[in-house]
Amino acid sequence: MANANVRVRFCPSPTGNPHVGLVRTALFNWAFARHHGGTMVFRIEDTDAARDSEESYRQLLDSLRWLGLDWDEGPEVGGPHAPYRQSQRMDIYRDVAQKLLDGGYAYPCYCTAEELDARRELARREGRPSGYDGQCRTVTPEQKAVYDAEGRQPIIRFRMPDEPITFTDLVRGELTFTPDNVPDYGIVRATGAPLYTLVNPVDDALMEITHVLRGEDLLSSTPRQIALYKALIELGIAKEIPAFGHLPYVMGEGNKKLSKRDPQSSLNLYRERGFLPEGLLNYLSLLGWSFSADQDVFSVAELVEKFDVEDVNANPARFDVKKAEAINADHIRRLDEKAFVEACEPWLKAPYADWAPEDFDRAAWEAIAPYAQTRLTVLSDITANVDFLFLKEPAADEASWTKAMKGDPAALLTTARARLEAADWSSPDSLKDAVLKAGEEHGLKLGKAQAPVRVAVTGRTVGLPLFESLQILGRDRTLARIDAALSKLAG
Ligand code: GLU
Ligand code: ZN
Repeated sequence: MANANVRVRFCPSPTGNPHVGLVRTALFNWAFARHHGGTMVFRIEDTDAARDSEESYRQLLDSLRWLGLDWDEGPEVGGPHAPYRQSQRMDIYRDVAQKLLDGGYAYPCYCTAEELDARRELARREGRPSGYDGQCRTVTPEQKAVYDAEGRQPIIRFRMPDEPITFTDLVRGELTFTPDNVPDYGIVRATGAPLYTLVNPVDDALMEITHVLRGEDLLSSTPRQIALYKALIELGIAKEIPAFGHLPYVMGEGNKKLSKRDPQSSLNLYRERGFLPEGLLNYLSLLGWSFSADQDVFSVAELVEKFDVEDVNANPARFDVKKAEAINADHIRRLDEKAFVEACEPWLKAPYADWAPEDFDRAAWEAIAPYAQTRLTVLSDITANVDFLFLKEPAADEASWTKAMKGDPAALLTTARARLEAADWSSPDSLKDAVLKAGEEHGLKLGKAQAPVRVAVTGRTVGLPLFESLQILGRDRTLARIDAALSKLAG
């Protein structure tokens, strides 16, 4: 059932380059919001000045826009809960932290890192839970005076309830966390800087988020956030606890968790290779979800129509580049001709293309595009497939040359040249017939006969349909390239 009250958030930290795991999270939130006719909030969690960068912030916005994942509230869009960059919300966090202290929900903790380490070590040896032991829950005024005199700067720690916390995860079902596993935790650093543990649920509360959909790696923070939420509700800051759904891990090569540092996880890589946004989103949606048992290629509109978080699977998903490519190839085929021609454009100029801009021939490109459309996996494949049309000389690929120029290529090429010269250039069939006949004269099947022609003219052993390619390149240029190949063979 549609629920227009749905408010979800995508709230990345602007560190490093966007990666596919992040996009999967953005996508599931977006699809969920759009499916329900709800609201997509985009928030930037930039409270870590040492790691956050403006460059990364720009890239996040640019990536979401490229993918078509739009937001209803957030940077550059605004909204009732602005600002949407946490670095601009510090006063809010300071204020909430003070209220939590005043209400006894949180307390100053004076323990030094060394003291904590020593106690943790001891607890471990004695087989007790090794999380924070709650020592500063009860600091007497006398102790406090001593700590202050020693110049200790306390952190602020949230007091976890002493009962277990149970919630129903939208993906995983009912989960229970016992107090031993969720000790009191820091929410503000000794410097006064608020931590993710505070700012994330505070903003979810203030922005009235109803559903938190995020990666499984954040599952352990959920009981803490639920406890904090309860305090915020008692303080009149939050209305109700959101529902949580933890999206499955994405596994990379060798069944290891796909890491941000893994080159194959970089979004920019897929963008530069020429994945279509629709193709990439289609594939990423399959990481933990499925459209139907017998269909894995679908449009974004179909995804939105069908997506619901209850259908997300808790099992780890495997990131499979080959599958992503196959799905992308399908989306390339689905484009109408004009859209395909436009989509390829970036790869028909520098830095991808080696030809001079004035050597690009739009008519030739538009003539060959339909043959390319059914053969590309990613749009960047286009450059090598059509470069023979725009380069002054075909790409010099010695390995292809050696592979194709077997037997007596000069004899074959001489015959083929003569027959091509006499052929009817208004028909690719006539060109094919010319090469076929030339082959017959030398006892070669068409496949063998066309290999040296292809390399002579295009520089490559594989490519688009040869006779259409020759026709589009034109008679004069084709014959001149065969002549050049003959001289090289004679050389
Ligand atoms: N800024 C956090 C991250 O990027 C958000 C986590 C969350 O969704 O709660 O990991
Ligand atoms: Zn302490």
